[in-house]
Amino acid sequence: MLIDLTKEIKVIRPEGVAAFPYSNSFFIADDIRLMVDAGSGGRAYAPIDPSSVDILALTHNHFDHINGTSFFNNAQIFASEEEAPGYSIPETYYAWAGHKHWEELMGRVKIERISEDTVMPDDIPVKPGFNRIELAGLLKDNEVFDLGKNKLHALHTPGHSHGHYAFFAEREGILFSGDIDIAPGGPWYGGGFSNFDDFINSVNRLIELQPRILVTSHRRVFDGQTENITKLLKDYIGIPLEKESRIYDYLIKPRNIHEITEGVFTTNYPKKTAYIIFWAKMMVKQHLGRLLRDNKIIQLDDDYYLQA
Ligand SMILES: [Zn+2]
Repeated sequence: MLIDLTKEIKVIRPEGVAAFPYSNSFFIADDIRLMVDAGSGGRAYAPIDPSSVDILALTHNHFDHINGTSFFNNAQIFASEEEAPGYSIPETYYAWAGHKHWEELMGRVKIERISEDTVMPDDIPVKPGFNRIELAGLLKDNEVFDLGKNKLHALHTPGHSHGHYAFFAEREGILFSGDIDIAPGGPWYGGGFSNFDDFINSVNRLIELQPRILVTSHRRVFDGQTENITKLLKDYIGIPLEKESRIYDYLIKPRNIHEITEGVFTTNYPKKTAYIIFWAKMMVKQHLGRLLRDNKIIQLDDDYYLQA
């Protein structure tokens, strides 16, 4: 589905829900035609003729944003300089998933593969896992794409992944914030190169832009005329901060990372696949690191944690 935000700026919505393996794309049909992200599925792109797109810019190297790059067969593909190696070197791509922590966090050797867990819809042309993508250029922070009537600013906004980018059409005040996605459950920072401190800074950077319209990768369009976008972003980052204070409270007794994850993070999770538990533990690890750094907790023998 196509949503017109201005004459040239459009959101491409997947046919079904904009959740893995799908995501929203952001399209500027100007003199130069630029698409941000490639995870909306083949049927969603059909109305705009993907072979007419000149530039495809990728927010980050996660499957649900990059699986449809082959639809854009005439486009120059740009990805962040921080994540460029992940498009050509399989070992680097897999290292970023953080799976070296699997045994430590899950207590056993990793056997699950996400590609085997998930059946792909027929308009997603590749399977999860490493997919080689030829890049024509690298995104740098504050780079501006001059497309004709519109300019699009690329903003390095790490945290979800280390080379995550958001895109801002400044004249129109329209922000595409990628996986700073205002998900009701809060942000995801469970990768090997995710960083929650960076995530907070990135959200604050986006708040300072005071966007008029906010588009994210996995939700509907938010219009600042009827919604408070600053509050949406603040509440979104407030969710993990609140969890962090609950972790602190929970450490009134010594607990290990498994108990903390179950007690604070995954208690009400509807689905608890091995991946979901692993990612939750990766996120708890980040909060424990912050609490240790701030001298609020201490680490005991056998990897138990306790309030300082
Ligand atoms: Zn992502």
